[in-house]
Amino acid sequence: APYHDIVIVGGGAGGISAAASLLARQSDLDIAIIEPADIHYYQPGWTLVGGGVFDPTYTRRDFATLLPDGVKWIKAAVAAFEPEEHAVILEGCRVVRYGKLIVAPGLKLDWAGIEGLEETIGRNGVTSNYRYDLAPYTWELVHSFRGGKALFTQPPMPIKCAGAPQKAMYLSCDEWRRNGVLENTEVEFLNAGPSLFGVADYVPSLMEYVKAYGIDLSFGHKLVRIDGPAKKAWFETTDAEGNTKIVERDFDMIHVVPPQTAPDFVRVSPLANEAGWLDVDPATLRHAKYPDIYGLGDVAGTSNAKTAAAARKQAPVVAANVLRDMGYGRQTADAIYDGYGSCPLTVERGKVILAEFAYGGRRVPSFPKWFIDDLKPSHMAWLLKERVLPSIYWKAMLKGREPMAKPSFKQPENEAA
Ligand code: FAD
Repeated sequence: APYHDIVIVGGGAGGISAAASLLARQSDLDIAIIEPADIHYYQPGWTLVGGGVFDPTYTRRDFATLLPDGVKWIKAAVAAFEPEEHAVILEGCRVVRYGKLIVAPGLKLDWAGIEGLEETIGRNGVTSNYRYDLAPYTWELVHSFRGGKALFTQPPMPIKCAGAPQKAMYLSCDEWRRNGVLENTEVEFLNAGPSLFGVADYVPSLMEYVKAYGIDLSFGHKLVRIDGPAKKAWFETTDAEGNTKIVERDFDMIHVVPPQTAPDFVRVSPLANEAGWLDVDPATLRHAKYPDIYGLGDVAGTSNAKTAAAARKQAPVVAANVLRDMGYGRQTADAIYDGYGSCPLTVERGKVILAEFAYGGRRVPSFPKWFIDDLKPSHMAWLLKERVLPSIYWKAMLKGREPMAKPSFKQPENEAA
């Protein structure tokens, strides 16, 4: 079976960044990425595709053009892990062996988890920014909307970019406010969770937009079934006594965010934690049981926000720890990830609330308050989202350039002695 010193599963935001970050530290490594897809997507751009700001093609590139020089591409999907053998099994039963393994296959969007959704998504006013081919349909629906009932849903956590369900709603409402449709429109946000946003500090500013747009908030409402041609959706709610009931809503358009889980081949593997996600240490990103395995990106069973911004900070930590464990350089301490994640909340066209936070919901703004006040809607933060972050992604993060992502290191425990 073929062997590589370092094998990376998945060539998404996390996988490519980890490869580039490794090579930026040590240029002569034997690395292979296992990635089945020809196309790589800049998913954070899909919110702006759905908002009529970006052309969809702006968010896609051929994977081959992003593969760092010297990295081998194994064009296949991983089906199973054999950590005791230092091997992964590809679909079709080919085996690849490794010295170190980095697991970054993202997460699974469970469209089938909502009854009736697959039959109607992309038609009958049912859309989602969570797919490249559907985000343009969001804009088509929003732009041509002439009033009625608009629903926006959010599934249970964790999901990637927890703010994206409401970003889609705010940009839609802003468009309707501009073209006079909002006053004839009933907008409702049906969220399976208990609050507008996981980090409470940002909620007051978001609530001002909820009020200004006249949005009805329905917490504890989980979408379970949809009938596109009949324009009806059903939600499961639970009352204080724990009794569940199903409530019905009519709609003229609905933006759906699908339930999200760990990929099946991770969930059923010895690498998973109880909830099915990759069981890595939240600080070192090394696997809890298998010290030659590391993980980053959406698959990780860590409590950070599942974002490309998180992967940008995780990649150098994984790279530093892999190289340390392989005996390169003089680094002895573990590199440490602080749980950074970021969610640029597009509250209207031209304004963003730039939520940046680490483990425990601790706010960690990158910019001084006079430039971008993270608690307030900001035009600067919009320009960052629209003009700067895409370039940071393509030209810095995926290339192993890390001006704002240098990892910190754990102090040795016996330092005082
Ligand atoms: P991905 O980038 O999804 O890559 C996973 C890769 O693994 C894919 O290339 C896939 O083909 C591959 N793969 C899958 N299965 C296998 C297999 N069996 N074997 C091998 N390879 C496999 N993040 C932000 O930072 N800011 C934002 O504003 C933001 N907005 C978002 C808006 C939307 C609508 C969406 C959908 C996402 C948004 N995100 C945002 C989240 C961000 O895109 C993800 O967190 C990020 O892409 C995660 O990187 P990843 O490498 O873990 O997964």
